[in-house]
Amino acid sequence: MNLTEAIGIIADAAVRLSCKAEFNAKFSSLTTFKIGGKIPLLININNVDSLICILKLISIYNVPYMVIGNGSNLLADDNDHNLVILRMTGDFTVVKNNGEYLDCEAGALLSSVCRVAATHSLSGIEPLFGIPGSIGGAVFMNAGAYGREISDLIESVTAIDPDGTSKTYSAAECLFSYRESIFIHNRAIITNVRLKLTQGKADIIKSQMESYTARRKEKQPLEFPSAGSAFKRPKGAYASALIDDCGLKGLSVGGAQISEKHAGFIINTGDAKFSDVIGLMKKVVGIVELQTGFTLEPEPIIISNGIIEF
Ligand SMILES: Cc1cc2nc3c(=O)[nH]c(=O)nc-3n(C[C@H](O)[C@H](O)[C@H](O)COP(=O)(O)OP(=O)(O)OC[C@H]3O[C@@H](n4cnc5c(N)ncnc54)[C@H](O)[C@@H]3O)c2cc1C
Repeated sequence: MNLTEAIGIIADAAVRLSCKAEFNAKFSSLTTFKIGGKIPLLININNVDSLICILKLISIYNVPYMVIGNGSNLLADDNDHNLVILRMTGDFTVVKNNGEYLDCEAGALLSSVCRVAATHSLSGIEPLFGIPGSIGGAVFMNAGAYGREISDLIESVTAIDPDGTSKTYSAAECLFSYRESIFIHNRAIITNVRLKLTQGKADIIKSQMESYTARRKEKQPLEFPSAGSAFKRPKGAYASALIDDCGLKGLSVGGAQISEKHAGFIINTGDAKFSDVIGLMKKVVGIVELQTGFTLEPEPIIISNGIIEF
């Protein structure tokens, strides 16, 4: 059976499971960078049973796939991709309060998680308000901001292995470190995240969230499409400071540019191609290495020729 036939069968099954299935969606409309080519099938997975069923078919027909959250840390090639994309929607966006815990389904946006926390006077997650990702994506990359990482707040994470087995990981078993977790390596799909927060005062929590939003608006080029920080923080330095010190603000390749507002961001000024961003990243890495000795590594997940690079 060829890939097109297998994708047809998987799409039929998705529809029978009441998951929305879309042929020929584009990464450019699924990512905050607004870059990237066609994918043969996008499935909006609505619950765990559907996910397990679809994973089984994907395994039987040996179809390449990838799960995404809100697409805010992805840089995809403009060429067509042979990947089925599974997006966490429906039941996967629910957030429930349970005493000092928040039980978050993996597709819930961090902004909703933070709002529910504030409603229940739960504190700890305020610095992450404004990261435009899902909680699943945040756990995958151990997202962080203003001195707080999501790993600081994890009680447990439930995830489904590619073979359909569900496992609950303690925080220690997630093997978190800077922009690292076990999920980058084991390909398990995160389905639920239990956060442990502390009791606070709702009005203080809300005002802190507003103040973090204001800081982001002031410092980050939120008016342009991007994937946030283009490079990870190298040990002993900040990528944005190194890029700024090398005088690279405003440097561009095609439609990709080092933001004038924040040297850590590569922005899409309108018509950036994948190759523009990669070309610009390579230039920056070369210049920074030559002038400072630090080697920068890309932070977004790069998807090209069926290869997903972390
Ligand atoms: C303007 C802007 C500001 C940003 N600021 C920050 C910041 O301050 N700090 C920070 O850390 N990041 C920041 N980011 C990057 C990004 O928002 C985070 O990395 C976020 O956590 C990604 O979540 P996502 O749902 O969008 O993941 P996606 O981009 O959809 O996916 C990223 C990776 O996570 C995997 N993934 C997603 N969901 C799951 C799941 N359920 N199970 C297993 N794997 C999964 C995907 O396969 C992919 O490999 C910013 C991005 C933008 C555009």
